[in-house]
Amino acid sequence: PVPVVAVVGRPNVGKSTLVNRIIGRRQAVVQDTPGVTRDRVAYDASWNGRPFTVVDTGGWEPDAKGRAAAIAAQAESAMQAADVVVLVVDGVVGSTDTDEAAARVLQRGGKPVLLVANKIDNTRLESDAAALWSLGLGEPLPVSALHGRGSGDLLDLVVAKL
Ligand code: GDP
Ligand code: MG
Repeated sequence: PVPVVAVVGRPNVGKSTLVNRIIGRRQAVVQDTPGVTRDRVAYDASWNGRPFTVVDTGGWEPDAKGRAAAIAAQAESAMQAADVVVLVVDGVVGSTDTDEAAARVLQRGGKPVLLVANKIDNTRLESDAAALWSLGLGEPLPVSALHGRGSGDLLDLVVAKL
């Protein structure tokens, strides 16, 4: 079976943009308004000759109160179906309660996790990404899904864990 990579994180951090970058075309729906992606959408992808399925998650807009629990539950169910989980955080905003809730779930889950600090569009922002070490998921990988910065390094690490 083809291994599965799940992309999780709170709304608007750039999950669908990153999925488009990974699959090399614009198919996952990117929106300034969060909550547009259907619950889970799977796409065929490959890197360095390794095929895998990448799953974009999202699909609702929980209110602020329920959001941390909802995203944590999403991370939990995505993780169960995945071989590798990519947690996307907005590297400029930094970690929020919701990111922390998702990180805790993933820490306990026993699946390989890669932490992406997205929206690191230039070198000047890289120090922001380093703050995400606090999530306890190892090294935050600075990426700009929008511009492609760091996405090759991320994919090298993803396929190394498949
Ligand atoms: P999702 O809700 O997590 O799937 O996020 P989307 O992929 O729909 O992106 C939400 C917004 O963030 C859109 O306006 C994107 O263009 C923007 N965005 C995504 N990645 C980046 C990035 O690397 N840099 C910047 N500056 N904006 C980004
Ligand atoms: Mg999305």
